Amino acid sequence: MTEDDTQTFNSTVYYDEDADEEAIAHETVAVLGYGSQGHAHAQNLSESGVDVIVGLREDSSSRSAAESDGLRVETPADAAAEADIVSVLVPDTVQPDVYENAVEPNLDAGDTLQFAHGFNIHYNQIQPPEDVDVTMVAPKSPGHLVRRNYENDEGTPGLLAVYQDATGDAHDQGLAYAAAIGCTRAGVVETSFREETETDLFGEQAVLCGGVTSLVKQGYETLVDAGYSPEMAYFECLNELKLIVDLMYEDGLGGMWDSVSDTAEYGGLTQGDVIVDEHARENMEEVLEKVQNGEFAREWIAENQAGRPSYTQLRTAEKNHEIEAVGEELRGLFAWQDEEEDEEESAEVTA
Ligand code: NAD
Ligand code: MG
Repeated sequence: MTEDDTQTFNSTVYYDEDADEEAIAHETVAVLGYGSQGHAHAQNLSESGVDVIVGLREDSSSRSAAESDGLRVETPADAAAEADIVSVLVPDTVQPDVYENAVEPNLDAGDTLQFAHGFNIHYNQIQPPEDVDVTMVAPKSPGHLVRRNYENDEGTPGLLAVYQDATGDAHDQGLAYAAAIGCTRAGVVETSFREETETDLFGEQAVLCGGVTSLVKQGYETLVDAGYSPEMAYFECLNELKLIVDLMYEDGLGGMWDSVSDTAEYGGLTQGDVIVDEHARENMEEVLEKVQNGEFAREWIAENQAGRPSYTQLRTAEKNHEIEAVGEELRGLFAWQDEEEDEEESAEVTA
């Protein structure tokens, strides 16, 4: 069974009681990579009683971290050879190379290729043989939270998808994997590689990473260009965004509207669609189309093959935006950030 592009999307949600841990209890899992997701999956699986081998290059600086966390470390090729389930948690841009060199030669019939994002499968950068299962368990959260929630007996919501079911057990095993890293404690939504990949790319481009940073920068520039102080512009257009997003996260749009003043609510309701107007909507549809037809994927793959020239340039320009210097100075003067920074530092894992 292989995913069909014309399928309709459903949204079944699974919890602990739906998962059968036996479906993974006797398997060996190779976790390739020990970054954000890798360190969390490896430790959670291991503490759930699953046999785990971390696959890292001989010269990887993550080796000592994995070893001091009590995990067995082998090269990616050796780990893949020994494992029944190969969880590919190296960066998406290096996955095709790691797959070709370390994984593919070591896959046996009936093994499972497990991902946390669908990009390389969906855009055919990795083409697995027909006799292996291909699954995705994608926590909807950075790895350090996947780990912390597990340690606190809490869960992290996640996604489950089966791209290829050679053994007939792919779904049950994927669900057991999701349970072992703590996702079924919170809820696991059934999806497909296509749906996860396309919505993930669209979301990060149009709304989360791309849309919101442009909105912040343009708002900031509009105020500063009109003669207002950079500090005021920073607070209004960047700092306060967190407070608003927290309210939406907790109680939806309605919770946010209820918490702000009537003046803010009326102004927001009348002006929001003036700013993000029909033209922005058409642009969003174009962005979605480039994700769906593979144009964005081809561009990003070519950009990487060329050594990331545009990416490097864009990164530098973003770093040099005035709002970054203003923000750094203000965050240094005020203490409101300290707690979060401490948390982030303790969660950082070296590559
Ligand atoms: P990461 O960049 O945090 O870590 C990758 C790790 O891979 C590194 O720490 C290193 O140990 C190893 N590595 C790097 N280059 C390598 C190479 N050339 N060969 C072998 N090993 C190498 O990656 P991540 O963010 O954990 O992403 C892993 C997967 O999880 C990706 O598919 C990503 O899309 C997915 N994902 C990430 C998040 C997240 O919040 N970070 C959330 C959901 C899904
Ligand atoms: Mg094997």
